[in-house]
Amino acid sequence: MDSSDSSDAVYTVPLMRSDPLSFLGTELDSLRAQGLYRSLRILEDRQQATSHFDGRSVVNLSSNNYLGLTTHPKLVERALAATKELGVGSGSVRSIAGTMAIHMELERRLAAFKKTEAVVVFQSGFAANAGTVSAILTKDDVIISDELNHASIIDGCRLSKAAIKVFPHKDADAARKILKELPAAQRKLLITDGVFSMDGDLGAVPELCALAEEFGCIMMVDDAHASGVFGKNGRGTIDHFNMHGRVDIQVGTLSKAMGALGGYVAGSKTLIEFLYHRARPFLFSTSHPPSVAATCLAALDVLEQEPQIIETLWDNTRFFKSGLAKLGFNTGLSQSPITPVIAGEGSRAMQLSDRLFAEGVFAQGIAFPTVARDRARVRTIVTAAHTKGELQFALDKFSKVGKEIGLI
Ligand code: PMP
Repeated sequence: MDSSDSSDAVYTVPLMRSDPLSFLGTELDSLRAQGLYRSLRILEDRQQATSHFDGRSVVNLSSNNYLGLTTHPKLVERALAATKELGVGSGSVRSIAGTMAIHMELERRLAAFKKTEAVVVFQSGFAANAGTVSAILTKDDVIISDELNHASIIDGCRLSKAAIKVFPHKDADAARKILKELPAAQRKLLITDGVFSMDGDLGAVPELCALAEEFGCIMMVDDAHASGVFGKNGRGTIDHFNMHGRVDIQVGTLSKAMGALGGYVAGSKTLIEFLYHRARPFLFSTSHPPSVAATCLAALDVLEQEPQIIETLWDNTRFFKSGLAKLGFNTGLSQSPITPVIAGEGSRAMQLSDRLFAEGVFAQGIAFPTVARDRARVRTIVTAAHTKGELQFALDKFSKVGKEIGLI
């Protein structure tokens, strides 16, 4: 190939007929008209506390890199060593030739960490949730689900074809009413996020565990935002609430606090062996490159050997949360390092986010359909890697912009 072929040139082949996808352009125009059209922000260096996005140096309050592990030297070294030794790809799905010894080592380590019999790792937290719920249930079953559960749970529920009963956010009494109406013999899955990703509050895990026991439900918790954040050494909300042995299916992610990529399901040996046979992302999508598994093993080492990083995360969280509250922002009911700044209408949240960005702070605006239409927000996530100076800088900018646009 001539070297000129590898330029950034865009080749456009004209369509031979009228565009059958033109209705998508109409949808995009409507987003533009509502002020909800978003260009992707491009990260030009590493995912860290202050990063370059779109040519600007900004204090980064938009990543899920809770512990700053995306750039931790131990993780980087292990990823490089695994790549050198084992190559860049696994070459197959898990159930054919793509189960490497390092994948099994990670599953063993995670099971010990979560204090469960076994673990299966998926390509992402999304795949773990959607793949598990859809594998274990059928159209004859019923799912009782918190209204704010993550999209990957909702998709898994839909794929399973089971009936879906939604209870108001964290309302265990409402869940009980639903359960009372259901036939005792029907198989039931009770499911909640451990930490809700848009509000940062904790799921009603203890109350729902009690209901699951009373009504004989399968109990499932998605701990994507709790992994590495809550519980001893970051074991999650089940450890935080001391619910070990009372949750049948725990989902965790390796993509957020763990700094790399992936999701996992922790539970009984029977559950995990079943998922090895029936979970569609496990059966039909290629497994992680060895570098990812190696990175996650190193992340587990860090959680076990350097738990002070988690303390720093919480110290920063308290500092930033109380700073926002003192300024007079509506920060909802967050109990985690995720703190929303509620702005109301979608266009207002986007205005806040854009003005902050211009001032050197990246806090993503989030609007409908991700959150309710009148609860659009800027979502902030602090990490252990932020300095107090960076967080104070962000608070000063929130104060300035919040006053300018009349939010405080
Ligand atoms: N569950 C929740 C609650 C999440 O917020 C996310 C990530 N947005 C996921 C699952 C999916 O995790 P991953 O990014 O690893 O696919």
